[in-house]
Amino acid sequence: MAFFEWRDAPKSDYAVIGDPIEHSRSPAMHQHAFDALGLDLKYVAVRVPVEETSLALDHLRTLGYRGVNVTVPLKEAVIDWLSEVEDFARRVRAVNTIDLVSKRGINTDAPGFTASLSQFEFDQGSKMLLLGAGGSSRAIALEAEQQGFELFIYNRTVDKAHSLVSSLRLKATVLAEPDVRDIDLIVNATSASLYGERLAIDWTAASPNAVAYDLFYSSHGTQFLVDAQNAGLRTVDGLALLAAQGRLSFEWWLGRKAPEPFGFL
Ligand code: NDP
Repeated sequence: MAFFEWRDAPKSDYAVIGDPIEHSRSPAMHQHAFDALGLDLKYVAVRVPVEETSLALDHLRTLGYRGVNVTVPLKEAVIDWLSEVEDFARRVRAVNTIDLVSKRGINTDAPGFTASLSQFEFDQGSKMLLLGAGGSSRAIALEAEQQGFELFIYNRTVDKAHSLVSSLRLKATVLAEPDVRDIDLIVNATSASLYGERLAIDWTAASPNAVAYDLFYSSHGTQFLVDAQNAGLRTVDGLALLAAQGRLSFEWWLGRKAPEPFGFL
């Protein structure tokens, strides 16, 4: 996909910023939505090295950009530049949507995660196993707790899972193994799928009524989802989250309903 270095960014209205950024599907998704509504707005991808985050945001604002989506590794770095950060985003230290004019930032990944599960019915107290303790896990973990899931967390580096739980003051159980017994929702927020690696999960122990959700997406599918499907589970991939968080960003920026369908679903 085409992208620009921030110093060479063209005139536009919206952008996704990150590093690397060439794989992002946000420009196609948002441009399609603008075009579908007949809006004369442009959305591009811009590479921003993390150490140049504030300089780049000033530059895009001066060029007349109205808003940006923020992806890895900038979600925490943008906070210093902002005048106003919503409480949730400050708590999880991750902003993915910015209004450049007012310098306000929010997190739409977390409500997007919940929205992307709307096709399933989870009761209060349903059990969710979160695999991973990196940047996106923080937002998912807090969102899951607020949505009433009983939360279990497993991470390859166990100490990081404990740090996540204590820093967010979550009521969650840290597991020593990725034990899927009795779990209703299994969320892969590790980068294992990115590297084509398999997580050591005993899928034969999983409930056939469980849902497996991989935050990562790939046109080839992921090993995690293939294994879950082979065990008879229902599955969701990261395109659902991409579309749901994108829809919420769109509606926050423009103050109007996004077109249906939004994204690639
Ligand atoms: P981070 O780099 O912050 O965290 C990576 C996590 O993955 C850590 O917990 C790390 O464990 C773990 N990990 C890495 N490699 C392996 C492996 N081989 N086996 C087991 N665990 C591993 O990443 P993010 O939290 O930002 O992103 C995680 C995933 O979510 C990525 O695949 C990303 O593409 C996806 N994502 C998708 C989004 C979407 O819109 N669909 C939005 C955000 C993220 P350790 O602590 O031991 O190193």
